[in-house]
Amino acid sequence: MNYPTPCLYLDGAFVEGRSPLRVQVRNPADGTLLAEYAGASAADLQDALAAAERGFAVWSRMLALERFCIIARATALIRERAEAIARILTTEQGKPLGEALREVQLAADIIDFLAEEGKRLAARGVPPRLANVVSQTVMRVPVGPVAAFTPWNFPANLPARKLGGALGAGCSVIIKPDEQVAATCLEMARAFHDAGLPKGVLGVVMGNPPEISSTLIASPVIAKVSFTGSVPVGKQLGELAARHMKRYTAELGGHAPVIVCADADIAAAVKLGVQAKFRNAGQVCASPVRFLVHRSRLDEFREAFVTGAKALVIGSGLDAGTQFGPLIHERRCGQMQAMVDDALERGARLLCGGRRLDRPGWFYPPTIIEGAPAEAQLQQVEPFGPIGLLDGFDSLDEAIARANALPYGLAAYGFTKDLATAHRLAQELQAGMVGINHFGVSQPETPFGGIKDSGYGHESGLEGLLGCTEVKLVSVALP
Ligand code: NAD
Repeated sequence: MNYPTPCLYLDGAFVEGRSPLRVQVRNPADGTLLAEYAGASAADLQDALAAAERGFAVWSRMLALERFCIIARATALIRERAEAIARILTTEQGKPLGEALREVQLAADIIDFLAEEGKRLAARGVPPRLANVVSQTVMRVPVGPVAAFTPWNFPANLPARKLGGALGAGCSVIIKPDEQVAATCLEMARAFHDAGLPKGVLGVVMGNPPEISSTLIASPVIAKVSFTGSVPVGKQLGELAARHMKRYTAELGGHAPVIVCADADIAAAVKLGVQAKFRNAGQVCASPVRFLVHRSRLDEFREAFVTGAKALVIGSGLDAGTQFGPLIHERRCGQMQAMVDDALERGARLLCGGRRLDRPGWFYPPTIIEGAPAEAQLQQVEPFGPIGLLDGFDSLDEAIARANALPYGLAAYGFTKDLATAHRLAQELQAGMVGINHFGVSQPETPFGGIKDSGYGHESGLEGLLGCTEVKLVSVALP
């Protein structure tokens, strides 16, 4: 296919980066070189910052309705171009084309929801306690220019959350998409450009990630930092943001437990579990990882789970019928193998998968491992790939304690038909998002975010918009 060579988007223009650093983009389905492009130089970053400052002055002063009309034109263009954008997404990221298309359409829905909420950002009046004070108004104002960093697993959806929140709230934004999947983000930027977004309101830069983040976060222009990615990098950027007193939202990794109770509908739990575990080859932060199944139903669950995993059609995301694509980078295959080998050496049992496929591209098959001990790396570190862990449990107390034992707290799931058990799981599972009897916790209208090491703050939902605002009190007394 015709893969567009990525470039930067600076001050309303698509331009080549001026850094000598060359970024290579490889097709994960066959390893071939798709494009090579220049990263952002120090001067490019300064230009992006100056443009974001000017863009903020224009955008934040426009009427919310005017902003909404421009954003709505952009999302209409994204929908019109969704099939072409989805092909680019699959080519650079690897996921099946149907998943890519749904992601692009969902990206438009996410931005629309946030822009709609931007029109009704309500102020709150507080009754004064002094006779001459006529009003005390608690307002929500745009926080200022935002620096946003997105990873490679959802090249449309993750930028949509960050752009939608910032633009919907009246902020300008400089986004650094992951270097491997920047073409999708640039197509979204093109839709905003074609919709008439004023110059400087949106910037897109790629290159050397630590150089870009340290430059943008330290700049007095940037008011807020938003990062999605791994826990270690999220902590580093959080330290930088704190040093420069910048607001910070961190959407980091997870290691989601799934508690399947004795009374659960096993067929439904397995069907949804296979889909959720292996969607996007498991490269999803809210992906279920630890399947804890009541021992009375373990045999039944195991058999159906392994059968479902083995039945998935593996191939290039562009081929019709593919349900499971490659991993993003070759190094991720090596990381999967190291974690699997470590678990097996510690006595775990391999139920399916467990070895990189002997074919071009970065294919690691659906893998299920039973009985990995607590010391195994897989039980502690987010695999972020197609590996599911299976274990039995005897009592709900034990299952909840094991589910909560890790420092992660992004998503957690439970399957039960009993209302009291469902309520207990919802109350006691330590996670920013709990799904009972399904995995659909990430919707445009609902807040997405974690607790503990999985980060803080939210994206999507009303909370995603509020995260790009600042509270301002205006108190008026009679002169
Ligand atoms: P990584 O943390 O090195 O990279 C993740 C993203 O962060 C990439 O886009 C990268 O360009 C960016 N990044 C890295 N260092 C940066 C810096 N100093 N400043 C700004 N951006 C920086 O991880 P990886 O090897 O690409 O992916 C593996 C891990 O990433 C997984 O184990 C998973 O935990 C995590 N991850 C999480 C999410 C999520 O949605 N929470 C998404 C993708 C990856």
